[in-house]
Amino acid sequence: MKQGLCVYPGSFDPVTNGHLDIIERGAAIFPQVVVAVLHNPVKTGCFSIEQRLAMLKKACAHLPNVSFDRFDGLLVNYMRSLGAGVVLRGLRAVTDFESEVQMAQLNHQMSPDVETLFLMTSPEHAYLSSSAVREIGMFGGDVSPFVPLSIAQEVQAALQTKP
Ligand code: ADP
Repeated sequence: MKQGLCVYPGSFDPVTNGHLDIIERGAAIFPQVVVAVLHNPVKTGCFSIEQRLAMLKKACAHLPNVSFDRFDGLLVNYMRSLGAGVVLRGLRAVTDFESEVQMAQLNHQMSPDVETLFLMTSPEHAYLSSSAVREIGMFGGDVSPFVPLSIAQEVQAALQTKP
């Protein structure tokens, strides 16, 4: 098991200021953070995996100990392939809690050497989600307060062209 390596998995469709906050705080604790975009063949999402990765890279350009990857299938298998023992997740309102506990416990059962660590959302991001950003943008609202500055224009333009 590689010490000091953690994986922050998610959809990041698109990355928001809430995600970036968790990545920055994770990168201050762990020597190495891998942000891993889940490729779900059933749910294609709004942005392609390549677009999501490109936006994450841009938004995290100031963080030298953060790298990026994609994975499909079970998270525990991906963790094993990297030799990583810590999953990083963010917690917002109580609504996140139930599904996050379930995922953490199932992962721990399947792979007892994998631990999930949670960082509490910063209050200003508590109600922020990728789906809210997508909805605001598709209806012509300004997404710039909610996504990293370096990708705001790109997200805005892409969402405006969605049906
Ligand atoms: P979303 O729920 O926005 O689609 P993801 O599936 O990409 O997000 O979530 C990846 C991780 O980031 C999850 O642990 C989720 O709880 C966390 N997260 C998402 N938005 C925020 C936020 N605003 N503040 C803190 N954590 C967040």
